[in-house]
This record gives sequence, structure tokens and C-alpha cells, in this order.
Amino acid sequence: MRIDEMIAAIQQELGVEVDGKAGPQTWAAIYERLIRNNDHNGAKPAAAITAVDDRSEKIIATLLPEVQPYARALVQKAAASGIKIKILSGLRTYQEQDALYAQGRTAPGSIVTNARGGQSNHNFGIAFDIGVFEGNKYLGESVKYKAVGVLGVDMGLEWGGNWKTIKDQPHFQLRPAWAAELNEKQMLAELRSRHDDQSPVYA
Ligand SMILES: [Zn+2]
Repeated sequence: MRIDEMIAAIQQELGVEVDGKAGPQTWAAIYERLIRNNDHNGAKPAAAITAVDDRSEKIIATLLPEVQPYARALVQKAAASGIKIKILSGLRTYQEQDALYAQGRTAPGSIVTNARGGQSNHNFGIAFDIGVFEGNKYLGESVKYKAVGVLGVDMGLEWGGNWKTIKDQPHFQLRPAWAAELNEKQMLAELRSRHDDQSPVYA
């Protein structure tokens, strides 16, 4: 199902105006449905939205099932606005994060992150980074990142471009409901604890 079809179907069920444009209420319903489907052994939410390009799908596969439809939906919503994006980065293991942290410090290259293993939302499968493309050309900087940021926030994603300290326009993440009132540090501490216990992130 394409994202616009899913939005329309859910709006019909909610009894709100069916305009195919999801506001916060519709996205909340989509989110809830995905979580609910995960709890019971219903339809796989990841399959609920049509797959996007292969490169993005490879990365999307590394994300938690709850996050996957959001990533696909963002690609489709951006495309509907005439903006070509791909998902370029998703889950990084603690080990991969440590290797990235070493870059520019104890390993060659320039510094690319201030987060060690367990200190990035990417380490838990809840975050992904996009790239904007013009044809096949990757654009590291473009005003289009802001436009996609608006689309993501509209869906209920958190956008790195809204961060106060280090802005990260390609970055999106799906904050768990239990973390609504937590700051980033507190959320990461709980994520690490769930990671160590192997308990689910979105429960
Ligand atoms: Zn990121």
C-alpha cells in the first residue's frame, strides 16, 4: 500500500476528512496501528507500505520494524513533493559507532561524530539519515533538506534540523512514547539499558 492510500484508509476509519494529507492525529493512528500490529502477530507493519529504491531498502532493513514504515513514507512523501531522497544511514552497532568515533582521534581521517558506542540514537535502530539527490547526484547541502524536515516532523518524526546545539539536517528519529518527557541523555540511558536487557524499545 502506498502511503497516501494508507493515510486515506486510516482517515476513513477515524471518521476525519479524507484528504490523503495526514496531520498529527492521522499519524498518531498510523503509529498506534503499527505498534499494535507488532504486539499481536498481525500483518507485518514493515510490509504495509510499498518498498522504495533498493539502496534505501538496504538501510531501512537495519531499522526497527516500527521505524521502517516512517522511513519509506518519508521517501514517498518527499517524492510527491518533487524531492528525491534516499535513506543513506540507519543502524550502527556499538562497535561501528566506536570505529566512527576513533576517526580523527586515534584513527586517520577527520572527526565525524562526538558519540561513542551507545551514545547515538543510531545504535538502537530508531534513527536514520537521508540524502537529497538531483538525478543521480547526491547533494550534501540543499534547501530541500529543510523541506523534507517539515514533512518528517509532520509525520511525528524528530528532525535533527530542529536541534538546538548541533543541527543535523539529514537526521530523523522516532522517539518512543516513554521518552516524550525525557531529554536526550535520559533517553539514551534508557535505550542502553533496554539494549543490554534485550528488551523492546517501543514498549
Ligand atoms: Zn543521524
